[in-house]
Amino acid sequence: MSTHKAALCKVQMLKLFLTSARCVRITRFHGVCGLSTSTPASSPKVCIVGGGPAGFYTAQHLVKNVINTFTQTAQHARCSFHGNVRVGKDVTVEELQEAYHAVVLSYGAEGNRTMGVPGEDLAGVYSAKDFVGWYNGLPRNRELRPDLSCETAVILGQGNVALDVARMLLSPVDILKKTDITQHALDALAESSVRRVLIVGRRGPLQVACTIKELREMVNLPGTRPEMEASEFEGIAETLKSLARPRKRLTELLLKAAIETPGEEELEKRNRAERAWGFRFLRRPLEVLPSTDLIRAAGIRLAVNRLEGDGEGVRAVATGEVEDVECGLVISSIGYKSLPIDPAVPFDTRKAIIPNTMGRVQQTAGLYCSGWVKRGPTGVIATTMNDSFDTARTLLQDIGKGTLDVSTVKPGSQGVSALLEKRGVKPVSFSDWEKIDSEETRRGETRGKPREKMLDVGEMLQQSCDFLPSSTVILTNHGRERGLLESCGPGASCRNLQS
Ligand code: NAP
Repeated sequence: MSTHKAALCKVQMLKLFLTSARCVRITRFHGVCGLSTSTPASSPKVCIVGGGPAGFYTAQHLVKNVINTFTQTAQHARCSFHGNVRVGKDVTVEELQEAYHAVVLSYGAEGNRTMGVPGEDLAGVYSAKDFVGWYNGLPRNRELRPDLSCETAVILGQGNVALDVARMLLSPVDILKKTDITQHALDALAESSVRRVLIVGRRGPLQVACTIKELREMVNLPGTRPEMEASEFEGIAETLKSLARPRKRLTELLLKAAIETPGEEELEKRNRAERAWGFRFLRRPLEVLPSTDLIRAAGIRLAVNRLEGDGEGVRAVATGEVEDVECGLVISSIGYKSLPIDPAVPFDTRKAIIPNTMGRVQQTAGLYCSGWVKRGPTGVIATTMNDSFDTARTLLQDIGKGTLDVSTVKPGSQGVSALLEKRGVKPVSFSDWEKIDSEETRRGETRGKPREKMLDVGEMLQQSCDFLPSSTVILTNHGRERGLLESCGPGASCRNLQS
């Protein structure tokens, strides 16, 4: 058999096992009989850690199927899905490596960058990550109960997450109630007094980090009008012709919202609007200012910056001037960051990524990575897709070239399942997850929503494993309630399964 054919057979026989770091997803790809003379026991076995887009796109490419939804990947004949397992706690990466020929780490960015300014711990100050988790129904954020009793909210950072949060704070309740927002967040937002949201960036209009689709959604949000400082856009129109196309289109839209005279229809919308949003540029947070009782946020002190350099790499430098903005809600949205998963895996703490070359983890044979943990929390979903396909290609090339040793027989899921059982961990299969999904959908239907998410991991597990008694202990020991199901059920990762 030619090398190419041999490699192809190996690929077609590939078995994959996918798990998630703190969350738990384990997907196993079973060999397809009849494609190779090798026995299933000797086919390559790969484990993917992470059940979000990066994990699923990596899996999708590895099974080499023309499939376009994550659900189809999870149901693929060579793939199985296991939730409720925390890698680094329930099972170590080294144990996965013993059981599999290769392990791909695709566990995303669970942490967030902090501002590191005084007052960050005052009531009324939240990280965007927690706030998003709250309205998206992540069990660990369900008790957040943000105080929305103020009129002005300040969001720090001008990326897509900042715009998501701004939109959520300002959306009419009639729109929100048709989405899968949790009922408790909907109730809180319906009572919200927030009428004005300022989205603050340390650099200028040419450096906003959001993308055009998200900005357009903000601009078109019913019941709102833009509230910008025209002076901050001086000289921007003149730079348009020198900009690359995506930045040019984004800036044109920004200018349209900020300084162009609106047409009749738009003018009418703005006149009727009861809520406002706007960007503020060249401002870096210095301190969250406390209320007189020193308990909650009452404002934010910002350093006024000027720019040095050109284009995207332009730097913000403090002018020495400061400005105070009154606000009762501060949401820090300055980016997510990946966390180390296991002492056995190299981690670059400065860049908050796993050091890698084209997805191969440096100095660790058989270990790969994809998605945010590989390149940092940047880009849109298509970026993660391409990045994950690249890692899958790298892995397949290594099998083809023989640099990834797949000659030994590995126990695969049997080995890991035995370890998990011994440790009292009960993985959740994809069909278990589907039970949770259909129950959430059913509950949503009764309220005219796509779904009503469950916020309690115990309830999810009970729903998924109807044979388990409700008092079963496997749900609560080892802190596993924060595990895989968190993203498997109502969380962001699981929603991605629908995409
Ligand atoms: P992001 O895109 O990296 O934006 C972070 C923002 O925070 C930037 O404006 C950045 O300004 C600012 N910032 C960073 N450090 C700061 C500091 N120390 N002080 C003040 N400002 C600071 O992060 P994100 O909004 O969290 O989004 C994460 C990723 O998710 C992005 O790739 C985003 O596109 C993606 N996402 C996509 C969608 C979607 O596709 N719909 C939705 C949500 C999120 P500088 O530019 O000056 O650094």
